[in-house]
Amino acid sequence: MKPELNRNNQSAVQLAKETETFIREVPKAEYHLHFEGAFRWQTIKAVHPQGRSLPEFPPWWRTKISTFRDFEKIFTDYILPTTGTPELIERHMYEVLSDLAVQNVRYVEMSISLHFHSGRGLEIEEILQAVQRGRTAAESDHDITVRIIAGLSRRRSEEKVIDLLQRAISLRSIEGRNIVDGVDLYGDERLGLPEVFVEAFALAKRAGIRLKAHSGEFCGPESILQVMNILNVQNISHGVRAWESSDLIKEIICRGIYLHLCPSSNVCLGISSSIATHPFRALFNAGCQVTLNTDDPLIFNTNLTNEFRLITAFQSFNVNELASICKTAFNNALISNKSLDAVCNNINELAENCHPLALSG
Ligand SMILES: [Zn+2]
Repeated sequence: MKPELNRNNQSAVQLAKETETFIREVPKAEYHLHFEGAFRWQTIKAVHPQGRSLPEFPPWWRTKISTFRDFEKIFTDYILPTTGTPELIERHMYEVLSDLAVQNVRYVEMSISLHFHSGRGLEIEEILQAVQRGRTAAESDHDITVRIIAGLSRRRSEEKVIDLLQRAISLRSIEGRNIVDGVDLYGDERLGLPEVFVEAFALAKRAGIRLKAHSGEFCGPESILQVMNILNVQNISHGVRAWESSDLIKEIICRGIYLHLCPSSNVCLGISSSIATHPFRALFNAGCQVTLNTDDPLIFNTNLTNEFRLITAFQSFNVNELASICKTAFNNALISNKSLDAVCNNINELAENCHPLALSG
């Protein structure tokens, strides 16, 4: 059954009232989230040059995104014109993080496309200092810990990838804090793995930051093995097609690799036919370390709370399993052991106090 998403960002599913409460209140962590795909539509309308003529809701919510080109065109037409100054980046960052905090997302690895913003004429330093100001304000106002991931696109291999990454990694905030905590490779993986990214990931590894790469979305297991073996990543953005190889699943479990899965994104882009048949449940049952994510919540008309509701409704996850997914996610977080213990205790308490019986009205 294919879930219908309505305009209020809630799926037309009905869960037990206690389960709804648990999903809303449980501390969550998100690992696969693109900053540029999470802007508020109201803000886009407010600052887009054609904002006055834009509809009340994103027009693509009612049409099908059938190709990766369609997906990229949304960014070109609607998102790109609402960036281009440090003030706008800072504003978007604060708003995106505030929207996560409202859902009790307590930890996020936020991926920022270096190419996307530098393409608007900004220097890397201006972009990341604006990101940092938005992050600092949100961390001060909300109970959320934010790690910044520098995103590199496979499509931009001819550009100064090494220079961009080097400058991003070496940048410090005015408080003397490292701004970038990791690197992620994205874009259409059918473009292959140009040599420059091997060099870039070796640089990131030497700098001791987190290594992530998109794979196993448009290509199969061989693409996942490629980034595991050549880029040395421990964190796969997507990886949903690992399900096609039992040998790869064994390898992923053996090496402690994390798969940061995005069910709604996969359904919207045709990687999976429905939430019900998405391999999230199968990979979880097989013993893989899976996390639940939104990828681009504005594009796919979802948020993290909604993703939890969807897998509960369509893949029969119970509260203890949901708690386990949350704890697995926090176990991978770049936070202190003390913070980890506190959040896991909180998750356990909420699960123990939850007795889903009645259906919500
Ligand atoms: Zn992604």
